[in-house]
Amino acid sequence: MKYIPTIGLEIHSELSTKSKIFCDCPVSFGGEPNTRCCPVCTGMPGTLPVLNKQAVEYTVMAGLALNCKINEFSKMDRKNYFYPDLPKAYQISQFDLPICKDGGLTINTPDGEKFIRIERIHLEEDAGKLLHDSYDRYSLADYNRCGVPLIEIVTKPDLSSAEEAREFVEKVRLMLLYSGVSDCRMEEGSLRADVNVSIRPVGTDELGTRTEMKNINSIKAIARAIDYEIERQTELLDEGKKITQETRRWDDGKGESKSLRSKENAHDYRYFPEPDIVPVSFTSEDIEKLRKALPELPDKRFERYTKDYGINEADANLLLTSVSLSDFFEATAAESGNPKTAANFIVVEVLRRLNDSCITPEDIPFDAKLLGRLIKMMDSDEITSNNAKKVLAEMFETSKEPEAIIAEKGYKVINDTSEVENTVKEILSNNEKAVAEYLEGKEKTFGFLMGQCSRALAGRGNPKVIQEILRSELNKLKS
Ligand code: ADP
Ligand code: MG
Ligand code: ZN
Repeated sequence: MKYIPTIGLEIHSELSTKSKIFCDCPVSFGGEPNTRCCPVCTGMPGTLPVLNKQAVEYTVMAGLALNCKINEFSKMDRKNYFYPDLPKAYQISQFDLPICKDGGLTINTPDGEKFIRIERIHLEEDAGKLLHDSYDRYSLADYNRCGVPLIEIVTKPDLSSAEEAREFVEKVRLMLLYSGVSDCRMEEGSLRADVNVSIRPVGTDELGTRTEMKNINSIKAIARAIDYEIERQTELLDEGKKITQETRRWDDGKGESKSLRSKENAHDYRYFPEPDIVPVSFTSEDIEKLRKALPELPDKRFERYTKDYGINEADANLLLTSVSLSDFFEATAAESGNPKTAANFIVVEVLRRLNDSCITPEDIPFDAKLLGRLIKMMDSDEITSNNAKKVLAEMFETSKEPEAIIAEKGYKVINDTSEVENTVKEILSNNEKAVAEYLEGKEKTFGFLMGQCSRALAGRGNPKVIQEILRSELNKLKS
């Protein structure tokens, strides 16, 4: 490797407030074009914005989750630019006094842990959307998204590969999801990133000229765009050419990026303090209150799962990939009284079923408590693990309570040892040849006889009990 890549990200995430940032229009994805807007969010002259308190609080919570300091005094600024999806011809954003600053997250890399610094998180309004496909010569504007509250998380140029960027975005996404401030639906554009990439020759310190790719809305695409850009810049430098500082558009379908325009500088935006909105100030008590309101975050949960419950790291990570799944696990674990068995059963059996039938954890068709009860019965040998799996399958089909399914199918383990004893004796007398072989020392036939007994008991025999009785009956025959 001749060059060292440097990557900085600007991650935009829409906040899940009920209403928009400066008006009471609803925040929800989709809808008939231009049905979720009003004079304020379509930028009519004479209207006045009112800052949404919840949006400010969510920004603080995001900042706390991402280990930022909260500015006790911050303000909104006008960023002037003309674009058809921005009807006011300026965006209300934050310039020099963002709500959050100086944070970061630790990610895992092949060379160990690495702290990626976050420079700032500011609050701003989202723009509308342009639809280019309906007519040849025209584009259409949909202003439903105008004024949706958006936070922008700006990292320092601390990332060095597509893989690190992917790790980082995934971790930020989880933090925002668990904080409850954003639904982070990348396919709906509620989480998207601008990706800045530069390379510099090994042995030099000064960062190279960067290019920026805007609005990439999948983690995979972010990684692909970075790899492509590193390669493109490498070729240019190898040919002795210079990198132009510019904005490029990543086309994920084609797997390439094209130059869009030369890079604008902050002074091009003619920022000035937004005169229609008063500055925001917090006391340290306000901030502490919001810190307390923050739900338990994934890294805390991870520690609890691995340290307190003894779940292995891979399984703990799997359970944490979604808030619903993690909550489902916790409710199951509490009801079953055995978090480790619950984790195992969910990771292997439940996740397999979710994957096979493309169900998301939110759509599991029964309450976690029911699964907790099933696991408890399995744990106390009231049903075999094999039958527990069958009960689970049926719960997915019918949402019935496990007890009802067990009664219906006769899965309850036979606790009456005399019934097991009779069955074992019967099997032994029907399989003289196998018994003789066992007595000659062929231990393998024990498994065969075990299988015969289980089958005769229709899977309801407690394997431990069958095994014990079978051994003792065979021992009797030995003497
Ligand atoms: P803007 O894009 O608005 O000019 P900044 O200059 O603050 O804003 O930088 C935006 C992003 O670009 C940040 O994430 C920063 O880490 C990253 N960045 C800055 N310089 C470089 C560089 N030489 N190579 C890669 N990323 C960079
Ligand atoms: Mg930028
Ligand atoms: Zn509105």
